[in-house]
Amino acid sequence: SGGLTLVATPIGNLDDISARALQALRGADTVLCEDTRVTAKLLARHGVATRLAALHDHNEEAEAAPLVKRMLAGEKLALVSDAGTPLMSDPGFRLVRAAIAAGVAVTGVPGPNAAVMALTLSGLPPHPFLFLGFLPVRGGPRKAELARLRAAEAAGLSATLLFYEAPHRAAEALAALRDALGPDRPAALARELTKRFEEVRRGTLAELASHYAAGAPRGEVVLVVGPAPPPDAPAEEALDALLRRALETLS
Ligand code: SAM
Repeated sequence: SGGLTLVATPIGNLDDISARALQALRGADTVLCEDTRVTAKLLARHGVATRLAALHDHNEEAEAAPLVKRMLAGEKLALVSDAGTPLMSDPGFRLVRAAIAAGVAVTGVPGPNAAVMALTLSGLPPHPFLFLGFLPVRGGPRKAELARLRAAEAAGLSATLLFYEAPHRAAEALAALRDALGPDRPAALARELTKRFEEVRRGTLAELASHYAAGAPRGEVVLVVGPAPPPDAPAEEALDALLRRALETLS
C-alpha cells in the first residue's frame, strides 16, 4: 500500500547514505526532491533508477493534496531534499501534515543533519537545544528576532542555540548575536561538515565575530551559541564561597 518515507541524504559527502536509505529510494515509485539535478547525481552514484519529481517551496502547497491522493491510491513516495534531513530548513512540512491528516502512513530513514552534527562537535551542552534555522536576512526583522530571543533568555530560557547561515552573512550574524546576547557567550562556527575542509572554530561570540570580520568563512556554516546562564544560577564567586564553607564544615 502507499505511503510517504522521509529519507535523509548526505550533507556533503556522497558516501553518507545508509543501506536503508538506498532501499527506500529504490523501493519508491517516485522520489520527490528539491532540485532534480542534485538528486539525480546522488541516485546515479548509487545505481538507483527511480523516477524523480520536484517538490519545493513554490509548489508544495498546491501539490500536497494531489500527492496525498496518489498515496491513498497506493503510490509509494520518498521525500528527500538537496542535503540532509527533509523538513529541516527544507521543504516537506506541508506534505507531511497533509499526509498525516489524510491517514497516509508516514515513516522515515534517519541520517545526516548539519545542525545536529555541529551541535555534537561544538563542545557546548547538547541539551536542551533550540534549532532556529536561518535568521531573517534583513537587519530590522533580524534585530527583532534577536530581541525576542534575548527576552526569552531573560525570562529563563537556557538552551544551546543553533542557526543555519550563509557564509557571506556569517560575520554579520555573529556580530548581531554578540550585540544581542553578550560578547563573552561561548560559541562555535562549524563549516564544510563531512567535506574535505571540515572545520569547527570555537570561541566567544566577540572572538568569532572579529575573526570572520577579517574574512568570511568558505563553504556552508552552522552557528552554535552556548546557553545563557540560568537566571537563578549562583554567580561563580557565590559558588566558591559555598564550597569553602562546605569544606570548612567537613574538616
Ligand atoms: N536539511 C539540511 C540538514 O538537515 O542539515 C539543511 C538544509 S538548509 C537549506 C542548508 C544550510 O544547512 C546551509 O546554509 C548551512 O547552514 C547548513 N549546512 C548544510 N550542509 C552543511 C555542511 N556540510 N556543513 C555546514 N553546514 C551545512
